[in-house]
Amino acid sequence: MVDKTIIKELIARSLVAAVFTSTLLPPKTELPSDLFGAIADLKRELNAVILAHYYQDADIQDIADYLGDSLGLSQEAAKTDADVIVFAGVHFMAETAKILNPNKLVLLPDLDAGCSLADSCPPDAFAAFKAKHPDHLVISYINCTADIKAMSDIICTSANAVKLVNQIPADRPIIFAPDRNLGKYVMAQTGRDMVLWQGSCMVHETFSEKKMVQLQIQHPQAETIAHPECEPAVLRHASYIGSTTALLNYIQQSSSQRFIVATEAGIIHQMAKVAPHKQFIPAPPLNNCACNECPHMRLNTLEKLYLCMKHRTPEITLPEATQQAALKPIQRMLEMSAR
Ligand code: SF4
Repeated sequence: MVDKTIIKELIARSLVAAVFTSTLLPPKTELPSDLFGAIADLKRELNAVILAHYYQDADIQDIADYLGDSLGLSQEAAKTDADVIVFAGVHFMAETAKILNPNKLVLLPDLDAGCSLADSCPPDAFAAFKAKHPDHLVISYINCTADIKAMSDIICTSANAVKLVNQIPADRPIIFAPDRNLGKYVMAQTGRDMVLWQGSCMVHETFSEKKMVQLQIQHPQAETIAHPECEPAVLRHASYIGSTTALLNYIQQSSSQRFIVATEAGIIHQMAKVAPHKQFIPAPPLNNCACNECPHMRLNTLEKLYLCMKHRTPEITLPEATQQAALKPIQRMLEMSAR
C-alpha cells in the first residue's frame, strides 16, 4: 500500500511546479488584437483541429472545434483527419492524442499543464506495486501518464469505467489506478473487489461535505450532481453521479431548475449555455474560494493557444516504445466502450 503522505506531497509539488514554471508569455506586441480571428486563420493555415476539455476557460471552450470529456476527446483524436491537433487540456490528454496519432503534430498551449492525479502515480512506484500483484489485470483511468498507460491492460474514463469492469470475467482480479475515489465508486457499482492505487485529484478531493450539506439546506429545491472523482462522503449527498458529459446531459433532461455541481467549475459555462433558464451553483471547497477551478487546466489561455499555433510549439513527443505500448490499452478501451 502506498503511503498517503507521499501522495499528498507529490500533489503539492505538482501544484507548485504548475504555478511557478508555467510558460512565460511574450510581450503583448506579439499578440494580435483579434485573437479569435488570428486563431481561425492559423487553423486554416495548419489544417489544425482544436480539441478542448470542459474544464478550460470559457474563451477556449468557445473557440474549440470539439469540446468534450476524456472519452469524447480521445474518440475525436482517434478519428480526426487534421494535420495538427491543438489540445486545450492537460498533458496526459495531449499525450493520449499523440499516442493515437504518432505521425501528427500535437500541440499543448502550456507544457506545464499537468495533473495532480497523474502525478500521484509515479511509474517506478507503480511498477513495484504491479509486481506485487502479478496475476491482476491493470485497468487505468485515462488521467495517468503515458508510462502508466504503457503498463496497463485497459484504459478507462469516468464515462465507461463501470461498463468496462463489467466486461471482465468475475474470477479475474483487477488493479485499478490511479484514482482511488473513482475506483471505490466503480467497486460500489459493479460489486467487484479491486486493488486500488491510492491516487486522487486535488480539485475533486477538496469539496467539503459539511459546506455541501449547508448549501443543500440553503437551496432545498436544488439537485446535487457530482463527478465520481469526488470522495465517497461527498458522493453520498448527490442524487446523480456521472462523467462530465453525463452531468451535462443530465441537467438538460432533469426537471429540476437548480443544481449544486460538484466538479470543476468550467463545466458550468456549458451548462449555462445548454440550459440558460436553469441555475448552477458550484459546490464549495474546503478553502474560502467559492468555486473549484483546476490550476493545471487553467494554465492554458487563449494567448498561449494562439502562440503555440503560431510557433508550432510546445509539441508533445513520446519515445516510440512507450507510444506503442500505451496504444494497445487505449484501443482496447475504444473497442470495449463501443460494445
Ligand atoms: S481536475 Fe483533477 S484530474 Fe482533472 S486535470 Fe485537474 S488535477 Fe487532473
